[in-house]
Amino acid sequence: MYYIGIDVGGTNLKAGLVDENYQLVATKKTPLHFVSMEQMGETLADMALGLLEENGIERSQVASVGMGFPGSVDNRRGVVIKTVNIPIRFMPVAEIFHRRWDVPVYLGNDADCAALGEYYHYGEKLESLILVTLGTGIGTGIILNGKIQSGCNGFGGEGGHIVIVHGGEQCTCGRKGCWERYASASALVRQTKAAMEANPASAMWQVSGGLEQVDGRTVFAAVRAGDAAAKAVLEQYLDYLVEGLANFINIFQPEVIALGGGVSHGLDEELMATLQSKVLELCFGREAERRTKLVKARLGNDAGIIGAALLGVSG
Ligand SMILES: [Zn+2]
Repeated sequence: MYYIGIDVGGTNLKAGLVDENYQLVATKKTPLHFVSMEQMGETLADMALGLLEENGIERSQVASVGMGFPGSVDNRRGVVIKTVNIPIRFMPVAEIFHRRWDVPVYLGNDADCAALGEYYHYGEKLESLILVTLGTGIGTGIILNGKIQSGCNGFGGEGGHIVIVHGGEQCTCGRKGCWERYASASALVRQTKAAMEANPASAMWQVSGGLEQVDGRTVFAAVRAGDAAAKAVLEQYLDYLVEGLANFINIFQPEVIALGGGVSHGLDEELMATLQSKVLELCFGREAERRTKLVKARLGNDAGIIGAALLGVSG
């Protein structure tokens, strides 16, 4: 049997065929030109059926189709409630899809799907994993006892918006001091630029090529070059990062927290070990024998497709 996963992004739809060993065996991509919810439902059905045709697979060989949306979903009713970047409000996607193909359809949030993908690909059987994606914001996907935790209305599990600095920086969500204002990739870029302006002699200027070229890698490269100002930026950034991670551990104590997104590429083994010990210092259960393990995410860009497909396995 196979599982189909569709990762719905703001600009592209990516579909994939996942086999019984949870491996991605074929993919298909198409640009998203949103006209109406009706038309989009049709496009999703075209994607899934096209994937079967291209790979010579019968409908009867597919156990389920899962879809990950950038927003909140009501999986039980098969409805996408609201998405960011695509004007979807209360879209009955399962109903539209079923006009073309009556296969079990599962819906999930994209960050949750990515977490589910990482959970099934961890390499050993886990009960709990939290994926923290450090990108433009901070996305979090919480898997406990093999199930996605997204709250009573699908808007839960938004770990980027836990406050770590009371009255701190203004966040897009309306609160001040949210974790993602301090520990996302965008936050690291802002912190890097501020440190460069304060330190005209810093190696961050040479490494980046100028303020406009600063990205999430700048500070890591400058630290490797021995730059003191960069070291201070990274140290402070890691402190912000561990505040949020420790909050998660104190509440859920997952077996594993996987770090993904652009910033995670800069975290080498030594920095991961530093993070692990910094987090431990802040955790309530620090004397316990079993502790939450911090790892880097493994699936990269395919996590969303694989996780969407595995919504059917998780149930
Ligand atoms: Zn916020």
